[in-house]
Amino acid sequence: MKINHLAIAVTDIDAALAFYRDALGLELDHVEDVERESVRVAFLNIGESHIELVQPTRDDTGIAKWMNKRGEGMHHLCIEVGDIEAALAEMKKRNVDLINPQPITKPNGTRYAFIQPRSAFGVLIELYELKSNKS
Ligand code: ZN
Repeated sequence: MKINHLAIAVTDIDAALAFYRDALGLELDHVEDVERESVRVAFLNIGESHIELVQPTRDDTGIAKWMNKRGEGMHHLCIEVGDIEAALAEMKKRNVDLINPQPITKPNGTRYAFIQPRSAFGVLIELYELKSNKS
């Protein structure tokens, strides 16, 4: 397992890129609109991992409401696993609250699921299984 990315909630991705890319010097990997989650995201490379900037594109979504309460800042930690089905099954067995009991597949084949922060000591955790990990 490893950290795939740390996500930071922002209100303006271009303003955030002026810091993370231009001032801090991280390389921008790509920007993408994730319509299912109503967010625009930017991935920056940092070693083997990424920093994901997340900007809500609607104000009635979970992340938008979260930002209304807490403002910008650290939003979630994404851990890459080899087998997301097995990881979720193990957590169900241990009564972990899952936001997504079944993994969701992104257009690029990556599968992901979120775990309730109350089960992870206050941190929203996302699991990733990359397409290339599947056998
Ligand atoms: Zn993420």
